[in-house]
Amino acid sequence: MAFVLASIIAYILWSLVGMWQQSGHGPGHLPESVSTTYAYLLTENEVTPQNLRQQTFIETQWNQAPLTYSDLDVWLRIGISNSASTSVNLSLMLDNPLYNRIEVLRISDSGVAESILLSGDKTNTASRAQLALPEVRFSTGASQSMHLYIHAQTDGSPVLPLILQTTDAADQTHLQLYLIWGIFIGTVLLMSAYNLVLYLGLKDIAYLSYIGYILTMLLLLGAVHGFGYYLFPLTLQQFLMERIITLNTVAAAFTFLFAKHFLRFNRSDGLSFRAGQLFLYLLALFFLLSLFIPEYQAAQWFSLVQSACYAMVLWLLIHRVPGNLSWTRYYLVSWVPFFVGAAIAYLLFSGVIPYTFFNRHAFAFSVVFEMALISMALTDRFANLERDRLYRATHDYVSGLANEALLKEAIDRHTRKANSELCLLAVEVSNLDAIRPYLQSNELNDLVHALSLEIGSELSRQRTLYDIDSESIYYRYTALMRGEVLCFLLNCNSTDDLAQLLNSMTDRDNYNPLKDSIPFRIQCRFGLAIQTDPIESSDQLITEARRALHEAKASSKPFHIYQSSQERDRSHHIRLAQDLVSAIESNELLLYHQPQLLLHDPELMASEVLLRWQHPKQGMIPTNEVIAVAEQTGLIRSLTRWVLRQSFQQARQLLDDGRPLYNLSINISANDLSRSNFANELIQEFSEWRLDASLFTLEVTESTHLSDQYHFQQNFKILKDAGFRFAIDDFGTGYSSLSYASEHPFSELKIDRSFVLHLPFDARHHTIVSATVSMAKKLQLSVTAEGVEDDATAQILYRLGCDKLQGYLFARPMPFEKYSQWQIQPDQLVFMNEDDS
Ligand code: C2E
Ligand code: CA
Ligand code: CA
Repeated sequence: MAFVLASIIAYILWSLVGMWQQSGHGPGHLPESVSTTYAYLLTENEVTPQNLRQQTFIETQWNQAPLTYSDLDVWLRIGISNSASTSVNLSLMLDNPLYNRIEVLRISDSGVAESILLSGDKTNTASRAQLALPEVRFSTGASQSMHLYIHAQTDGSPVLPLILQTTDAADQTHLQLYLIWGIFIGTVLLMSAYNLVLYLGLKDIAYLSYIGYILTMLLLLGAVHGFGYYLFPLTLQQFLMERIITLNTVAAAFTFLFAKHFLRFNRSDGLSFRAGQLFLYLLALFFLLSLFIPEYQAAQWFSLVQSACYAMVLWLLIHRVPGNLSWTRYYLVSWVPFFVGAAIAYLLFSGVIPYTFFNRHAFAFSVVFEMALISMALTDRFANLERDRLYRATHDYVSGLANEALLKEAIDRHTRKANSELCLLAVEVSNLDAIRPYLQSNELNDLVHALSLEIGSELSRQRTLYDIDSESIYYRYTALMRGEVLCFLLNCNSTDDLAQLLNSMTDRDNYNPLKDSIPFRIQCRFGLAIQTDPIESSDQLITEARRALHEAKASSKPFHIYQSSQERDRSHHIRLAQDLVSAIESNELLLYHQPQLLLHDPELMASEVLLRWQHPKQGMIPTNEVIAVAEQTGLIRSLTRWVLRQSFQQARQLLDDGRPLYNLSINISANDLSRSNFANELIQEFSEWRLDASLFTLEVTESTHLSDQYHFQQNFKILKDAGFRFAIDDFGTGYSSLSYASEHPFSELKIDRSFVLHLPFDARHHTIVSATVSMAKKLQLSVTAEGVEDDATAQILYRLGCDKLQGYLFARPMPFEKYSQWQIQPDQLVFMNEDDS
């Protein structure tokens, strides 16, 4: 927009200059019949219209009186002679409305002086038009010559250009001037309004400084060119006319303020900022001074102030422009027309260059150009700020890599374009937590960058990578998500194909591209999600990739590809968890008993209690699933509390009924034992039932990622001391191992049913079970085998020396009431009898 504006203005100005050159002006452009002389008189004596003709005027070139900045009082004489046989209508313009007083006298042949014009900013009788552009019109008769005398006084700029031309040409000049003035005033007002709106929206002082600057220019040029008489009340305009230097000082102040705010200098810039503040105080001082001293004196000092101002601005520019050229260039360029215009004005008013229309208005033109350029600069700066803001919103602050927001955008973009399916690969350094303490923050950053290039180039050798940050030169294919997770978008054909890719990627055991500076083995973990459905949101793809990464971590695998069935499981689990809350409170849960056969005394009664959940809609829910959900959601806590209370109550009832209760085994989650205070809560509950702790065996499996070993041991010890027995459950499965068995004081070891089920036919299982039993014996652990389904198995276990047997061969898990009945009529001794017989 600013550029279009500037072009239009340039065009208008250009055509104006063209018009001017065609029209006649000055003494040289008069009709050929008219000739002129020009003379001046600088005198200390009193000169009156009466003694004018006795004075000796010095003849010189047109407009070349050697006038200097001072308290000036000068007489000029113009001689005009018309040799033609017709009269000529002429106009004389005196183009410096800043003169205090200008009087034009015409002296008749008989010596009578007639004042034909009185103007100047210290006079009050002239009309606005006369004050703005002092002009007088007259005619010279056929073959007549005449003299005009001009008496001029000023304490400001001494140059007084006289334009003598035909009245027709003068009318043209008026038209051009009004046009120029109009353009100038219009541009200033438009820009002020526009920038005011911007200021109100953005609250950036740069806009206010700019408005201040151009409005001051309006006042200044309104005085210098006189058009201010049309804009302001007479007294105000006269006040301004006398304070050109004050106005110039204000303009300098705004010039500096604008530079400071435009270039964003603030306290953090230290010296530059403080020097700037000091300069503003000096300007304020000079401003006050200029109100009171005469203009020609202030003018001499002002050149000093102005130089200081430019020096200050230059200082700011030198500090800011390099590196910020993208948004400071137009501001920089705006100084060119300004200086050219100011130089022309200066040379004109010091009489070095001749008065021409162009020279006279060069400064006004240049200010218009400057305004347009600064507007462009402000627009650029704003756009840059926006770009900056956008960049910050879409990039990781530290690494400068694209962030999740940009990744989402990229996914959406490529989903629309790509015809093959899109995959999102998430990569993390799996041992980052271990090495992080040894890395400096910039090293971590370097590593992230290096990895992004390394993995990116490896991927691009095998697959098409889609760009995420198309404006980045080096890192266009990478995004960085929370938790230092690098992401890549690639095309994919099939899951197998991808698994192959990931296999080849994870074959390496060291991903370190910075071996020299970071001497660690860097291992990476990969999570991959496939966009199977184009309507799938980018959020979902990202979540799936994250979940895949999480799954890889949980299962200690180098990579995982997300499968949507996992998702179904998950939502199913969430619903189950919700139902479980109410199930614990209402009576949907049951505690089944599965009898255990004590080989040393079959009369005694032992059982393992097993949880059952009769879901009102889904029926019996597999117990493993219930426990998994409870552990994931933290519901295990209240679930265990329920199981314990129920077990104690049932044990109490069996004893009260006179049953020979020997042992009750209760499954405890390893999570329970890692909770502080678990043991105390259990003991408190237990104490209400008047029972002997040694009746109870707590079955625990080893947990791979025990969050808190300390509490686990504490609880274990408290309960052990209170008399409870502990069994190591699922022994041999990887959940429970030899070292676990030896670390804690267990009393019993349960061989997992996976080893028992095929015992008669599987020699390896036979070896394992036999070794386990003999080892347990050495550790003085009693041994229980679960999952005994047939006679042959029972025989083997009996011979190997097991203490307890549990399995479908004797009884399936059954409700408490049934178990209580079953106790009276057991049929569990069949195989021993057979064996014995
Ligand atoms: P577990 O501790 O290994 O429990 C034994 C599992 O083997 C039971 O499955 C039982 O029904 C099954 N079983 C018993 N005899 C045989 C047999 O001869 N053949 C076969 N194939 N299976 C047999 P269930 O009841 O489904 O329990 C599964 C797991 O859930 C249990 O494994 C235990 O770890 C956990 N669990 C059960 N109840 C509770 C509880 O109240 N609290 C906690 N924390 N976990 C429990
Ligand atoms: Ca168990
Ligand atoms: Ca088991």
